[in-house]
Amino acid sequence: MLVALAGGVGAARFLDGLTKVVKPEEVYIVGNTGDDTEIYGLHISPDLDTVIYTLAGLANPVHGWGIQNDTFEGLKALGALGQETWFQLGDRDLATHIFRTNCLLKGETLSATTATIARNLGVQSTVMPMSNDRVRTIVRTPAGKLDFQTYFVRRQAKDEVVGIKFQGAAKSRPAPGLLRAIRNAEGIIFCPSNPIISVGPILAVPGIRTAIERRKCPSVAISPIIGGRAVKGPAANMMETLGMEVSALGVAKIYQGLVDVFILDETDKDLAPAIQKLGMQPVFMDTIMRGPAEKKALARKAVQAVRKYRAL
Ligand code: GDP
Repeated sequence: MLVALAGGVGAARFLDGLTKVVKPEEVYIVGNTGDDTEIYGLHISPDLDTVIYTLAGLANPVHGWGIQNDTFEGLKALGALGQETWFQLGDRDLATHIFRTNCLLKGETLSATTATIARNLGVQSTVMPMSNDRVRTIVRTPAGKLDFQTYFVRRQAKDEVVGIKFQGAAKSRPAPGLLRAIRNAEGIIFCPSNPIISVGPILAVPGIRTAIERRKCPSVAISPIIGGRAVKGPAANMMETLGMEVSALGVAKIYQGLVDVFILDETDKDLAPAIQKLGMQPVFMDTIMRGPAEKKALARKAVQAVRKYRAL
C-alpha cells in the first residue's frame, strides 16, 4: 500500500496519475480537512471532494474542483432567498454535501461517510480524512483572523498571511486505521500540495507526524514550488509572508525528517547540494503536470523512488 498525503487540486492531479500507474486499491489517500466548512448548514469537505471527483472522473477540468458540466440552479435559488452565494456549489455537488451532512447528523463518522461517497462514485482507492474530529485552518491577516474559505474563496487569497492556526488540531485524533496504514505502508508520498495549508493540517494531527518520522518505508515528496513560484495558488506568497524561503528548498525544509527522496523540477537543479544537506536525495524531472502523460510520468517517478530507496 502507498500512503499519499493530499490537499486539493495539486494532489488530485497527481493522484489521477498515480492510480493509473499502480492498482488504485493499493493507494491510501490521507486528505486534508482543515479547509472544511459549513455553508447553508451543510458540511463541505472541499479537499476530499476534489480528490474523489477527480478519481471518479467527474471533476471539472478547468478549475480542478467541482463537477464537470454542473449547473447552479440551487445556488441561484438560494441567492433569490437572500443567501450569500460566493462559495460556488453546483447542483450535483450539493447532493454530495446534503448526503454527507445527513450521514453526519445520523451519527456516522466523516471517515465512514467519505468511504461511502468514494465507493458509490466508483473510486477504488481509500480516501481517508486526516481526522474525524473538527480541525479548522484559520489564517491571520492584517484584516484580522479569517476562516480558510473566507480567505481563499471569498477574498480570493488576496490578504497577506501573517500566521496560520489549525484550530482543534491539538485535541484531534487521527482517523481510525490511519496510523496503522502509515506503519504498514510500502511507501509514503507527499503529493505536490501546499505544504503549509494542505499538508500542514495533516501533520498537525497528533500522532501522524511521529508515525511518519518513525517510518520503516521510504517517503517521497514532490515539490509544488518550481523556480521559486507556485504552479497555482497562494503557496509561494504565503511562504514569503510567513518568513520562509520561497523555493523548493523551502518546501524541503518544512519536510525535513519526514522525507527521504525529494522530487523537484529540473529547473531547480542548483538546489541539489542543499537538498542533500537536509538528508534527502534529490530527483529531478519536468514536474509540471500539463496533461495525462505528465501526471503518469510524475507518478511513475515517485513509485520508482519508493522502490529504489527500499532496495538500498
Ligand atoms: P489546493 O488545496 O486545491 O490548493 O491544492 P493542493 O494544496 O493539493 O495543491 C496546490 C499546490 O499544487 C500549489 O502549490 C501548486 O503549486 C501545486 N501544483 C499544481 N499543479 C502542479 C503541477 O503540475 N506540478 C507541481 N509540481 N505542482 C503543482
